[in-house]
Amino acid sequence: MKYKLETIPVWDAVEHSTKTCIICHLMEQSEARKIEFYLGNSVMNPETRVRVNSRGFCVHHYRLLTEGGKPLSLGLMAHTRLQETARQLEKALNALKASSSPRSARKAAKQMQEVLAGREKDCLICEGMQDNLNRYLYTTVHLWGSDEEFRTALRDSGGVCFHHLPLLTQMAPEALSGDQLAVFCRELGAYAEAWLQRAVDEVHWLTQRNKSQYAGSDWKGCEQAHVRAVVMEIGSGRIHEPPGRK
Ligand SMILES: [Zn+2]
Ligand SMILES: [Zn+2]
Repeated sequence: MKYKLETIPVWDAVEHSTKTCIICHLMEQSEARKIEFYLGNSVMNPETRVRVNSRGFCVHHYRLLTEGGKPLSLGLMAHTRLQETARQLEKALNALKASSSPRSARKAAKQMQEVLAGREKDCLICEGMQDNLNRYLYTTVHLWGSDEEFRTALRDSGGVCFHHLPLLTQMAPEALSGDQLAVFCRELGAYAEAWLQRAVDEVHWLTQRNKSQYAGSDWKGCEQAHVRAVVMEIGSGRIHEPPGRK
């Protein structure tokens, strides 16, 4: 088995995320746990601090860390991380200060840019979330293949968004044999059609409900259908991303 099974959270998502993508739901939880972890006791763990000092986080996750309400934890982390940045940058800054010609100035600027780009390219939280995502996708396919009850629960759940659906089909060969794979893809196609139709119907009702002729009618739980329609297309995790992030 290539990935660790996470049956409890996946079953939980299928049973409780009845309106939006179960994988988005799991990833929101995963992200919240990671933020809590890095702002929690891990700050006192030397190994974690060394990892943070060298690898750090992406812009999106730095933003969530700053919004986490733990100034001391983030302050301790940022202090040693910034010291490491200063250490790595020392040569480039010295070269910048010693610029004596256009050529040496351009070279020093490039050197500085390379150091700083290297400092920004990693994210410990994105990496941890990717591991979780692989486990959740693998477990979803595995449970579909081994538990009849799960198939029904998945069909009747909030479904899988179009950001995560291709990832689920890519993962399928890892967890299913040849014959099962074809059946899985057939069933998933039918489920996806139904999930899509539900999203279309719900957002349509939201637009209708806003017309005067339907004033006072039951919302049928569609007050947030516009958000769910967007999540269906791109996944909930990507709505608040800054430009440039995949
Ligand atoms: Zn999703
Ligand atoms: Zn990140």
